[in-house]
Amino acid sequence: MRPRSMGVPIPQSLVEWLRSWRKEGKVELEVTRHETPHKNARPQDRRGLVTMVIVHGDAGRSDAGTIAWIRDPASMVSYHYLIGRDGKVHQFVDEDMRAWHAGQSAWGDSTHLNNCSIGVCLANDGTGGEGYRHEQYDSAGRVVAAIMERHSIPLSMVRGHDEVSPGRKTDPWSWFDWAHLYSRIGLWAAGRLP
Ligand SMILES: [Zn+2]
Repeated sequence: MRPRSMGVPIPQSLVEWLRSWRKEGKVELEVTRHETPHKNARPQDRRGLVTMVIVHGDAGRSDAGTIAWIRDPASMVSYHYLIGRDGKVHQFVDEDMRAWHAGQSAWGDSTHLNNCSIGVCLANDGTGGEGYRHEQYDSAGRVVAAIMERHSIPLSMVRGHDEVSPGRKTDPWSWFDWAHLYSRIGLWAAGRLP
């Protein structure tokens, strides 16, 4: 089933690019796996179809601290992917499982978006004093482009946590440069980066 597209649709050509790019074996993303207790099965009906990517910023002073917090049984928080300040990609939850990142959330006629989304988080201190790094946009672009390809997700369904939990969440915050992320997704999709 095709996900319903919201907002400005991505050109279908990008999806085609992504497919051919994958076939050519251009994806060589190094991912470090970690365990977390904060995950469970997606619903086995249409509510559990993956139709969105939700982008987060995690307020933490160090990548190691954020990783430890996601692993901590007390946190009740997880993301599928965390992009460290050095651009390294950490995975905590398989994409077919539900990670606990969005909480109370809604988009279109969907609610409880942990059911139908993949959470990608970029490490940041959350104060506004630390910009996201070039390496993080590069890695996030690769991760998000690959997710879009795997699940046929249009760019219009790549959304910020602030957009799906308005009034409750503000990450990835105003200093997250969406145009920068889009440019990296496009470049990776076209296979233009080394
Ligand atoms: Zn968030």
